[in-house]
Amino acid sequence: MAEPSARKRVLFLFSDTGGGHRSATLALIEALGLEFPDTFDCKMVDVFRDYLPAPLRYAPEMYPPMTKFPETWAISYRTTDGKRRSRAVIRVLFPYVARSIRRLYRENQADIIVSVHPLVNTAMLRTMKSNPTPFMTVVTDMVTTHAFWFDRRADLVVVPTEEAREVAEEYGIPEGNVRVVGLPTAERFRVPPADPMEFRDEQGWRRDLPVILVVGGGDGMGPMEAVVKAINEAGLKATLVAICGRNEALQQRLRDLDWTMPHHIYGFTTQMPDFMAASDMLVTKAGPGTISEGFIAGLPLVIYARLPGQEDGNVAYVVKKKAGVWAPRPHQVVDAVRRWVEDPAALAKAAEASRRVAKPDAARQIARIIADRVGVYSPAR
Ligand code: UDP
Repeated sequence: MAEPSARKRVLFLFSDTGGGHRSATLALIEALGLEFPDTFDCKMVDVFRDYLPAPLRYAPEMYPPMTKFPETWAISYRTTDGKRRSRAVIRVLFPYVARSIRRLYRENQADIIVSVHPLVNTAMLRTMKSNPTPFMTVVTDMVTTHAFWFDRRADLVVVPTEEAREVAEEYGIPEGNVRVVGLPTAERFRVPPADPMEFRDEQGWRRDLPVILVVGGGDGMGPMEAVVKAINEAGLKATLVAICGRNEALQQRLRDLDWTMPHHIYGFTTQMPDFMAASDMLVTKAGPGTISEGFIAGLPLVIYARLPGQEDGNVAYVVKKKAGVWAPRPHQVVDAVRRWVEDPAALAKAAEASRRVAKPDAARQIARIIADRVGVYSPAR
């Protein structure tokens, strides 16, 4: 056990724009505690909400409505992506946030800074200048990763896939500073419940029907309502479980549907590992966190929506690995789930493909990298 004074301080920079950055950060904090008990003091700072001036401060609130207009999102994504364009945006914005970032840095001294958000890296690294605090970026987009993730001054950049490594290197991150590990996910995905049927019993889900789990990221985003309606109207012999995240209005609308099948509607849950372990297939928007968790739970995926730009590559990755299908129209979602409900062999095959690309140890591996950087662990080389 480390002496209190020897405990290492880790500052995590994230924001609640969607649910994925928080989930990844929590998974890393959990893994640090499991791998190195009583060694780390971890602090999470929501850079936007806690430090930046208005209107940037409202980014977490603005994110769900902004993503309702994928075309507008695509334009803002593409016009800021790329080496030159991203630098130009930062040049314009930096003076506006510089004071806040300096304050953030001053108030949160740490032994290592871990950024889990694309929009904070350059501002922070510029502010730190030649300060020796190690700075690590953990990229939480799977494949198509925005230029903002990559700043050459970072000591280390951890990416989830080989495809993302290529992007990092294109942006000039030296080969030796990039590690392909995976997207950090909670320990309870890594060690699933011994008997998932117990969770079904607890929740009142039928044991004898396949469960179709529908989620829309941390904020119940995308055309989730249309998808749920279409599945309900398809007359499938299955249970539908919908998780609406923080979207309370959606939750109410789904409860009020004219239901034809067993169903269970939830708001934000902290039990996602249990929900996934007790389900048979996952219908989701292309959020990288949810997809990575679905892989670990061995769930075949039906992806019904994606944010243009950052989530394009996720869809291609899932399809290429045969772990699921792209179904942008509700009737295509119905076709996909019908096939799996009616053909258990096809379901098992897709489930196996999903499991094959899972990276359940990513959070623990990244925890060891962090520990190595601050000198409390030395991997066998
Ligand atoms: N999530 C959760 N409870 C919910 C809904 C979502 O814990 O009720 C988690 C989900 O397990 C995942 C994250 O929120 O870890 C969503 O991240 P993702 O990258 O899939 O999408 P985002 O919301 O960031 O767009």
